[in-house]
Amino acid sequence: MKTLQVNKAHYPVTVLGPGKRIGIWLQGCTIRCRGCVSQDTWEPDPGRAMKIADLLAWCRLAAENEFDGVTLSGGEPFDQPQGLRELLKGLHAWRKQSGMAFDILCYSGYPLATLQQRHAKLLTLLDAVIPEPYADGLPLGNVWRGSANQALVPLSEAGRARYAPYLDAAAAGKRIQMTVENKRIWLIGIPERDEMAQLEALCRSRGLTLEQVSWRR
Ligand code: SF4
Repeated sequence: MKTLQVNKAHYPVTVLGPGKRIGIWLQGCTIRCRGCVSQDTWEPDPGRAMKIADLLAWCRLAAENEFDGVTLSGGEPFDQPQGLRELLKGLHAWRKQSGMAFDILCYSGYPLATLQQRHAKLLTLLDAVIPEPYADGLPLGNVWRGSANQALVPLSEAGRARYAPYLDAAAAGKRIQMTVENKRIWLIGIPERDEMAQLEALCRSRGLTLEQVSWRR
């Protein structure tokens, strides 16, 4: 049985890649960048293992064929290479069978050279990757990137066509979206530096204490 440890899946995601997207955040990250806002994804958790067939079925149901792409993030997707491969193969099969032109974008905290060395075959199943660890000390990067060291790297012909306008584009418009699910508030996207601390301070000033925040352990 093929599984992946999944932190969360959401549709529609509109702040991590072009258009209306399916977002999948994987569980487990060995990289552990200082200042990561997704520290809830760090610990591997077998309790979050999901059958890849079920994950794909959820994608089909949630997006109802009305979406532009799939964004994979985490956690570190490449820390689960076998499951990631199966998911990507499933997405490719869906794309081929449906005739849809959705793209597949993946975030990774590994440098591009490491991915090319260790996961060259997986890269062939992606349309674009945003690699390199998050660097807290650098300014925010271009659109969809958390720090200025992170490039947007198209990997396929379709990826080159779709992502060409965004390679050096500055972030513009909405950067964060919010959703409430299972009595929890989820913030999706790339916050400005200190934005989470400002949010907490503002909430505190109104008598509200945020608990179990993902940007602190
Ligand atoms: S920013 Fe990404 S790679 Fe870095 S610790 Fe957080 S989840 Fe892991």
